[in-house]
Amino acid sequence: MKPVKITQIDIIPVQIQLHEPFVISKGALTHARNTIVRIHCSEGLYGVGECCPYRSIHGETQAGTVAFAKDLAEALLGADPRHIHRHVALMDRMIVGNASVKGAFDMALYDLSAKLSELPLYKYLHGDRVKAIYTDNTVSLLDKEKMAEKAVKFQEMGFPVLKIKLGERGVTKDVARMELIRASVGPDLPLRIDANQGWNYLDALRSLEAMKDLNIEHCEEPVQAGNTEDQARLTAHSPIPLMADESVFSPRDASRIVSCQAAHLFNIKLGKSGGICTWPRCRF
Ligand SMILES: [Mg+2]
Repeated sequence: MKPVKITQIDIIPVQIQLHEPFVISKGALTHARNTIVRIHCSEGLYGVGECCPYRSIHGETQAGTVAFAKDLAEALLGADPRHIHRHVALMDRMIVGNASVKGAFDMALYDLSAKLSELPLYKYLHGDRVKAIYTDNTVSLLDKEKMAEKAVKFQEMGFPVLKIKLGERGVTKDVARMELIRASVGPDLPLRIDANQGWNYLDALRSLEAMKDLNIEHCEEPVQAGNTEDQARLTAHSPIPLMADESVFSPRDASRIVSCQAAHLFNIKLGKSGGICTWPRCRF
């Protein structure tokens, strides 16, 4: 293998105003404050990664990601970008947690390595293109009329599935939101809900029970992440499948959820787990 060296790393903080605030039970976001990482090499190519640190979920801020990214950039200069596992291990030795900024470097390294191999990333990762992949669109947590209006708009735009943000304490308002949304979009459009840890155990149990006939695919993170006892009790009794999101950052978290039977499904995001490198070695 011909030697290749990292020659330069650009760290670019950006602030992008959203068309409208993105509202979940933990608060509203008005801007995407992301950090872009661009890794250049001696072959004249570069790879790009990006992170979107969400302070109430990742525990990271844009300023923090930029500060760590500068330290890491210094440590990686001169290294071969294709030694991704080595670089990920270095990041883990330099700082615990901070999954989203680590993910930005991981993505940039994979992007660059795939380009150096003259392969699209999916082929570099030994994947194929046989599966159709689609995405949902998310309805923010607002008054029920506004949420139903948004849901219909997204349905008309052609989104094949919608995620609805809930998680207001109590039961009545969230159930009323879902009843109105289901009535507005008709019986067949797949709907998923996400409480973002906003309910307590009784809110969750009562809400899920009241929504059981609304044809809901699954519910993400109904109660506080880390409250494994209530997550397991709910998993045993919920009429709607439960998905762990904020509870699963790493393969170790996933293993704990499985052994405690604390969810039916996982939501895996590169921004939570530190990138692509973490998961392929993982078997349950
Ligand atoms: Mg979620």
